[in-house]
Amino acid sequence: MSRTDNAVQRFIFENTDIRGEIVSLNHSYVDALAAHNYPEVVRRLLGELVASALLLSTTLKFEGLLTLQARGDGPLTLLMVECTDQRTFRAVAQFRDDLSEGTLQELLGKASLLITVDPVKGKRYQGIVPLEKETLSASLEDYFSQSVQLQTRLWLACDGQTCGGFLLQALPASVELSEDVRAESWKRMTALAETTQDAELLELDHETLLVRLFHEETVRIFDKEPVRFVCTCSQERSAKIISTLDRKEIESIIEEEGQVAMDCQFCNHQYVFGKADIDAIFNEKPQLH
Ligand SMILES: [Zn+2]
Repeated sequence: MSRTDNAVQRFIFENTDIRGEIVSLNHSYVDALAAHNYPEVVRRLLGELVASALLLSTTLKFEGLLTLQARGDGPLTLLMVECTDQRTFRAVAQFRDDLSEGTLQELLGKASLLITVDPVKGKRYQGIVPLEKETLSASLEDYFSQSVQLQTRLWLACDGQTCGGFLLQALPASVELSEDVRAESWKRMTALAETTQDAELLELDHETLLVRLFHEETVRIFDKEPVRFVCTCSQERSAKIISTLDRKEIESIIEEEGQVAMDCQFCNHQYVFGKADIDAIFNEKPQLH
């Protein structure tokens, strides 16, 4: 059985204050990594981060950009995913030559997980948690309990070609008012979710997985929201970056090489600027006095 979803989907358990989000990706994830020849272990970890970022983005109300970064001092120095409220994403990893197989912790070393929300309007939000658990899902659970203060659990899987995952989140009391009843529901749902196998996350469609895990519960599943890989780089954006750099330095590159080339770190697309372009960039830039 193979699944063709590239989507996130919300679900709720009727008569409880628990909601869920489920995600599955295959070709959008493969497309996002296509420009890079990442080692298998990097592909898998980055896939888990992509699934996490998309799940996280569905739990936050925002219009703009959400960035999830894992930065460490180990051989794997960076895993980064950007996603928008339009359910598009792009992802990148950076690592040293001495990278080999290992767990998330072994590869990242001393690391932290940084969550940034850049809304179209309003203030930027940043949250940071130490990445000190064995898995990405456990570290994100720390983030939710510390920063969002909503009990949240995540299950993630990625095999280098497909990513899947879901989260459960306990919302503030609205249907189940008694603390005991709420705790009981949470315990029951998370115990059921705990039986999830990686293969199920990777192979089953959303509905089948939810029925298999929670067949005695009443689950309402909402419409699918398609997820796509989109890189937001452009000639214009690259020009903007150049305009923030030292003019003399850029001009000396032009002198030596005849052009300035900028590679997008996400999709590897190269933007090339000639002397006339560079002159225009700096001459159009408002002069600071
Ligand atoms: Zn790009």
